[in-house]
Amino acid sequence: MVRSSVLGYPRIGADREWKKALEAFWSGKLEETAFHTQLQEIRLDHLRKQQEKGIDFIPVNDFSYYDHILDTAAMFGMIPQRFPYEGGVVPLSVYYGIARGTKDAAASEMTKWFNTNYHYIVPELAGASPILTENKPLAAYREAKEKLGIEGKPVIVGPLTFLKLSKGYSISELDVWLERLLPLYVRILQELAAEGVQWVQMDEPILVMKLSAADVQRLNNIYETFAASVPNLNIMLQTYFESVEHYSDIVALPIQGIGLDFVHGLSGNMQSIKALGFPADKILGAGVIDGRGIWKASLRGKLKLLDELVELVTPERLIVQSSCSLLHVPVTTEIETKLTSELKNSLAFADEKLDEIVFLTKALSSGSAGILAELDKCDRTIQDLQQSGERNRIGIQQAVAALSVQQPKRSRPFAERYSVQQAKWQLPLFPTTTIGSFPQSAEVRKARQLWRKGEWNNEQYADFIREQIDIWIKLQEEIGLDVLVHGEFERTDMVEFFGEKLAGFAFTQNGWVQSYGSRCVKPPIIFGDVAFTEQMTVEETKYAQSRTQRPVKGMLTGPITIMNWSFVREDIPREQIAYQLAYALRQEVVALEQAGIGMIQVDEPAVREGLPLKEDEQADYLAWAVKAFRIATCTVQETTQIHTHMCYCEFHDMIDSIEAMDADVISIETSRSHGELIHSFELNTYKLGIGLGVYDIHSPRIPSVEEMTGMIERALRVLNAKLFWINPDCGLKTRGLEETVASLRNMVVATKIARAKH
Ligand code: GLN
Ligand code: ZN
Repeated sequence: MVRSSVLGYPRIGADREWKKALEAFWSGKLEETAFHTQLQEIRLDHLRKQQEKGIDFIPVNDFSYYDHILDTAAMFGMIPQRFPYEGGVVPLSVYYGIARGTKDAAASEMTKWFNTNYHYIVPELAGASPILTENKPLAAYREAKEKLGIEGKPVIVGPLTFLKLSKGYSISELDVWLERLLPLYVRILQELAAEGVQWVQMDEPILVMKLSAADVQRLNNIYETFAASVPNLNIMLQTYFESVEHYSDIVALPIQGIGLDFVHGLSGNMQSIKALGFPADKILGAGVIDGRGIWKASLRGKLKLLDELVELVTPERLIVQSSCSLLHVPVTTEIETKLTSELKNSLAFADEKLDEIVFLTKALSSGSAGILAELDKCDRTIQDLQQSGERNRIGIQQAVAALSVQQPKRSRPFAERYSVQQAKWQLPLFPTTTIGSFPQSAEVRKARQLWRKGEWNNEQYADFIREQIDIWIKLQEEIGLDVLVHGEFERTDMVEFFGEKLAGFAFTQNGWVQSYGSRCVKPPIIFGDVAFTEQMTVEETKYAQSRTQRPVKGMLTGPITIMNWSFVREDIPREQIAYQLAYALRQEVVALEQAGIGMIQVDEPAVREGLPLKEDEQADYLAWAVKAFRIATCTVQETTQIHTHMCYCEFHDMIDSIEAMDADVISIETSRSHGELIHSFELNTYKLGIGLGVYDIHSPRIPSVEEMTGMIERALRVLNAKLFWINPDCGLKTRGLEETVASLRNMVVATKIARAKH
């Protein structure tokens, strides 16, 4: 009998109950006991749902009060020393302090979970002395059993992944840390075994990355220790997000099951299994239902794949499961009322994926009559969308095909553009500018709400936006900035704003996914061919330009960022989606230029997020990402200055690609990189215009002139002064008015000091 399994279920709740409970607790509106009760209800509700659908292996301990990596660190008592902690179960005040910071101690760093948009809290090992503060997986197992009679499958972050994702130790200390942690893991597992737990899911997604020989040795050591200390517990070693590296080492481990991703790692994992076989003594967890995508699976295709796998293992040794935790998809399509039925029927969020998993499991086991009808129905749904007008904008497809044949190019190379642009714009040494947005005050948010609710008509709202632009154009002039922006007051979100105006996009009412902590995002869905239908930014930008003699920079979100922050169709390659977006944006760039806007910024903060995990696929991705940017921007006149912005600092390995984008000016976040970024530029002098952010916009603190002078001088040691711009790290929309004005004033003073000196 084939069985079914899920690797993890979304925490947030169909109506974001979880988020609301957390925020109520933080603000003091919900007291602790009631908070625990609410979260328990949410947790049990999720378990019940999986039970009712008929999932065989239901995950427990996948739930969290914030983040599962933070949970693991807290379980091991790894509390950074700046937080008051005296041992025992970690109090919520400390737990949330690490996640969010307190008035006395800064939060731990947070970073992206592999190539997803989920962020985890990075454990800090320095100074920690690991102890087991509670057996969380055991508590979760007991709860599910007592309350619902569920024989749960505890999910635990594996030791190798946990350590590899932590910081605050040197490589040479890794074994020491492993020695400290292993006994704690063993204790957890022994207690689980004693309780009668049959299976645990040990998550080791790090196994999809290339490991050193020493790490492979550590892997052996870990799982041999478990096998020796807890012989009667079954371990499902779970991987996801890609195919595993070191397949032969992994299948040789003394474990009972191996979970592989047959969606995102399909070809690699299939190849390994076919070439090297799958061990006869192990269970295969076949991740065939996409835990990250939102589309209904082709059930016929999945069944075919599973049939192939059954040949290689046996039905008894096969588990049908999601490719990864369902954390990365919204909860259910059921409550969506505004999507066309064509689109809605084609979507599968977490709950619909449970149905798919159960269906496939049953289909494999029984092959009963209803199955064919179900497969036909599924085929028809997929076909309907496929044949819809939305996916068949022939004009777009042809235009994009023609465009992407050659590498698009500006009419002249940067060195030549530089002098004509200098002549035209007459900017001073070290021009100053900002990244685009200014504070979205309560007033701005309220105005938007009134307009959305229909209480304000378009004219009233447009007047309000113009007033804001007026205020900020005046302020920018008064502060003394050289290149101004209109402030982005009409935008809630830099992707949604464009998605709403382009064809090929859809928006859900409730398609939220957790991004970090209680913060959820609702990515747009790119389901059709993307097309430009109306001007998107021209009116506001033109208006802003009409109010000043200084240049106003137009502000667009780039093709790769729009794509990476959306859920996208899977019937065409991502590369094609990027080109379609680029082609649409190009039309906006042309419109801006025609309206007299001579500086246009195309933001690409999310380029790095789309970088494939596998190194050998990265160059290809970067090449088409660069090409998409160039499609969007290369038609402009040589005097028109193209800007771009990226807000992360780890791109020592990407400088060549960034240069290849051929933007006249790039502004990037610097302050959080503690000088590392500048170091990367020492190794590879950047040849185009560049503004390194001189202050961190994530904090309300007003940076002093001296601090910024320091940043500027440090950058000028390695960068060409003629190409250097001065700007904050990122957009200012989350900041307050007064701190923003004060910070920018200091920035201008620091700039003047630098000009006098150089
Ligand atoms: N132009 C955008 C802004 O200023 C850029 C935001 C970003 O980089 N994430 O808000
Ligand atoms: Zn940014």
